Amino acid sequence: MDNIIQDIDILDRNSREATDTVITSKEENTGKAKKLYIESYGCQMNFADSEIVSSIMKDNGYDTTSEFEQADVIFLNTCSIREKAEQTVRKRLSDFNKIKKRKPELTIGVLGCMAERLKDKLLEEEKLVDVVVGPDAYRDLPSLVGSAEEGLKAINTLLSREETYADISPVRLNSNGVNAFISIMRGCDNMCSFCVVPFTRGRERSRDPHSIVREAQDLFDQGYREVTLLGQNVDSYKWSPEENNKAWLEKKEKQGEAETIINFANLIEMVAQVSPDLRVRFSTSHPKDITNEVLHTMKKYENICKYIHLPAQSGNSRVLELMNRTYTREWYINRVDAIREILGEECGISSDMIAGFCSETEEEHQDTLSLMDYVKFDFSYMFFYSERPGTLAAKKLNDDVPLEVKKRRLQEIIDKQRQYSFERNKLDLNKVHKVLVEGTSKRSEEHLSGRNSANKVVIFPKKNFKKGDYVNVFVDDCTTATLLGNPVD
Ligand code: SAM
Ligand code: SF4
Repeated sequence: MDNIIQDIDILDRNSREATDTVITSKEENTGKAKKLYIESYGCQMNFADSEIVSSIMKDNGYDTTSEFEQADVIFLNTCSIREKAEQTVRKRLSDFNKIKKRKPELTIGVLGCMAERLKDKLLEEEKLVDVVVGPDAYRDLPSLVGSAEEGLKAINTLLSREETYADISPVRLNSNGVNAFISIMRGCDNMCSFCVVPFTRGRERSRDPHSIVREAQDLFDQGYREVTLLGQNVDSYKWSPEENNKAWLEKKEKQGEAETIINFANLIEMVAQVSPDLRVRFSTSHPKDITNEVLHTMKKYENICKYIHLPAQSGNSRVLELMNRTYTREWYINRVDAIREILGEECGISSDMIAGFCSETEEEHQDTLSLMDYVKFDFSYMFFYSERPGTLAAKKLNDDVPLEVKKRRLQEIIDKQRQYSFERNKLDLNKVHKVLVEGTSKRSEEHLSGRNSANKVVIFPKKNFKKGDYVNVFVDDCTTATLLGNPVD
């Protein structure tokens, strides 16, 4: 039984971010004339964007459907982060060929990072695609779909310096009614050499904090009990009434022209004050930007979850420099030490790791493994390096680590992570954990599944508890991915 729970929960946890996850729209009938089917690939930001897209389309006469055969419009919200992610989308498009032949009036749109990266090339290469729209042009979707309905191919891949969709209330897709994502910023100003995001999502902009707090309050009033604040680099969140573009704001700041500035520590405090019963999470933290101020704010509020996703990517300073991560191994270790000092051993820390980056030697790979020995991550998303066209690494570095070496190194990283996930879970035994119930366990109708503050999945007997309840659970058993226990008073 343990093995089955373990496998299911590994899937559950990966599905929060892994690029092979697909989220599809749910059935909603509010009497609108037309139906939209939307499938989203990639990161949480993409899933949050699909909720914005659904909201824009809803205001323009579309209900969502969970069956693509019923749709008037099909959107694929895509990911470009690794080559495999793009291949998955191309394969999915070929699945839609048959239905498009049967129903030529159907509009098919490609949205998101792949649309932004390939632009009109996508229209040339994928003949069935009618509409190509980048992440900053979603307000234009109704008119682009209108053009497609008149038989014209339509494209808008303009990136914006200001767009944050702050005024749009997302339509929650596939939500369990307990957890919701809130986008707090868009784009990324870092130029990690392996990464396509700065090219597909544009410059960094922070969303008006008052609109973020309003969204969190609305969610709480609707019964949600956890929000995850999303951005590519949340710790660099910076907003002022005068300016939301980070580069321009920093210029004004230097010239003394920006009076009130809200940083990330201020923002999480504002959201935490919505209610002590609303849990606040965030992702992703960049090691170069996470401050002690943020860690102290996390400590001050019980409802800010003690869990930090802090991608290291590599444990070797030379490789980190080639990756243009702008920190060293020592800096990373210093940030982990600060987390342990301020928030204690219980704070969950997870990472992203890339195996086999350009010119990585065997010793440098060993440094990644030894960093994992030092930190003992609770969890990691692990990948082998995939060269992406247009990135700094593709232009300047040689992708010279053979595929079989990349895969072997990745396997060593995965094996080590498995060992530490289990070790970290064992530290949670014989303690009481406050668990927010997310639903019935997939393994058994008689059990509930939820998470503790450190983001660990906890499974326990249902009794009279229900989704959205906070339950104190005494944990007495664990697998590599799950804690198991019983409710206590
Ligand atoms: N902004 C986040 C950060 O800096 O940590 C990460 C964003 S990215 C969508 C998610 C992860 O994908 C990265 O942390 C990295 O590990 C991985 N990734 C990005 N580009 C990659 C590439 N070209 N090959 C392999 N993995 C890649
Ligand atoms: Fe990509 Fe680096 Fe920005 Fe993350 S911080 S989105 S890895 S460029």
